[in-house]
Amino acid sequence: MPELATPQTCTGCAACDNICPHSAITIKSDSEGFLMPVVSPDKCVECKLCEKACPIVNGKDLKHKHKDYVYAFWDNATRTKSSSGGAFSAVARQIIDRGGVVYGAAWLDNLQLCHIRCTDHQSLAAFRGSKYLQSAIGDTFRQVRSDLREGRMVLFTGTPCQVAGLRSFLFKPFENLVTIDIVCHGVPSNVLFGNYIAKLKESGSRYRDITGFQFRNLTRWGFALAAITKNHKRIPVTGVDNLYMEAFNKASTFRKSCYECRFNGTTRVGDITIADFWGLGRQGTPFNHDVSEGVSLVMANTPGGEELILGAKDCFIEKRSLEEAIKFNHNLVGSSRRPANRDGVIESFNNPDLSLKEINGRFHITPSGASATLKNLLIRSGLFWTAKSILNKLRKL
Ligand SMILES: Cc1cc2nc3c(=O)[nH]c(=O)nc-3n(C[C@H](O)[C@H](O)[C@H](O)COP(=O)(O)OP(=O)(O)OC[C@H]3O[C@@H](n4cnc5c(N)ncnc54)[C@H](O)[C@@H]3O)c2cc1C
Ligand code: SF4
Ligand code: SF4
Ligand code: SF4
Repeated sequence: MPELATPQTCTGCAACDNICPHSAITIKSDSEGFLMPVVSPDKCVECKLCEKACPIVNGKDLKHKHKDYVYAFWDNATRTKSSSGGAFSAVARQIIDRGGVVYGAAWLDNLQLCHIRCTDHQSLAAFRGSKYLQSAIGDTFRQVRSDLREGRMVLFTGTPCQVAGLRSFLFKPFENLVTIDIVCHGVPSNVLFGNYIAKLKESGSRYRDITGFQFRNLTRWGFALAAITKNHKRIPVTGVDNLYMEAFNKASTFRKSCYECRFNGTTRVGDITIADFWGLGRQGTPFNHDVSEGVSLVMANTPGGEELILGAKDCFIEKRSLEEAIKFNHNLVGSSRRPANRDGVIESFNNPDLSLKEINGRFHITPSGASATLKNLLIRSGLFWTAKSILNKLRKL
């Protein structure tokens, strides 16, 4: 039997499943809900191709050379439809214009997240907006390979471990492939997210009909969880209902590999790296532009990546130092720390008998006190973003 990555190191990238010529590997949820490969001894012929394709087992160095500068970036057309500054869309648009194909993470109807393929401008909307859980790769690596062999230009976007999985699966570089990785805090599983949505629905009638979910405020820059009903009504998720995101911020719900991630750091696996430019201009060189609608942090790690960033039309772009980028983005240099309560928190989210309130009672995850109460009130009343913008202006005085 092949020796694949261990449960501690496996990222669930599915390169092994995509490469197996005998369909001997199935990606299944483990006891915590994380995607893991399972080898069927009846079908496996011991060719070991899966070991060669696994970016954890083969130990190949997939990282590009380090640069000492980054870009503050936004795309005028999609800045208020994107998580930070719309850097993803500015690159994706160029690929579609050249008759290419874009791969990214999108919701299925049942609120499960998976990677899909798209070839037109309208479909890019499904990729916009960060979804803070692990997207299932399915057979998209095989689809990418087939597009590349046909000579089409391909943009693949994902977490760094997914980009590493794809490049490792392909075995050789393709000139027509561009990859974007995101700076990555870590990922909970689709199973845990599904269980959270079930608890939310049980917690009150206003959530009963939800069919969609948003993690970010796309028009302004920041986090704003909202459940979306089938009539497209947006319900702000605050207080204990926001337990999923509070646990995410505290890194309590991640797969084991995220705590010792091999792909975080300033040397990157993607041609381009995108993130939020938190703390831009706060120290050192001032930044004299309004950031309230979002700013992307962009790293152009290869000449091809740099060409796409500098060639983006109708975009704001300014060179900044790597040092500034690192200051307020710890996942750019290292992994999230594993909290002592991680196993218990995951088990509780996956326990159908526990409500969000009961989980919070056990682990004290959501913040309490006057400022948390005020923030929740402002969010529910719709005044939060106005208050935040006034506060930011006062800070600059
Ligand atoms: C799980 C996760 C953790 C992150 N952690 C950090 C962090 O610690 N620090 C930081 O600065 N930024 C982090 N980001 C990145 C940040 O949220 C934005 O995605 C980034 O600023 C790009 O902004 P944009 O305006 O170009 O994005 P958008 O236009 O909103 O585009 C989103 C892009 O991200 C991809 N994407 C969305 N969700 C996922 C997913 N679950 N898995 C794989 N790809 C996905 C889409 O396919 C698309 O390419 C994280 C994102 C995710 C998904
Ligand atoms: S060793 Fe070969 S046949 Fe067996 S699971 Fe791996 S790729 Fe498939
Ligand atoms: S290829 Fe990816 S999913 Fe398969 S064992 Fe390696 S890390 Fe895990
Ligand atoms: S932290 Fe690392 S292992 Fe975890 S999802 Fe992100 S890139 Fe993958």
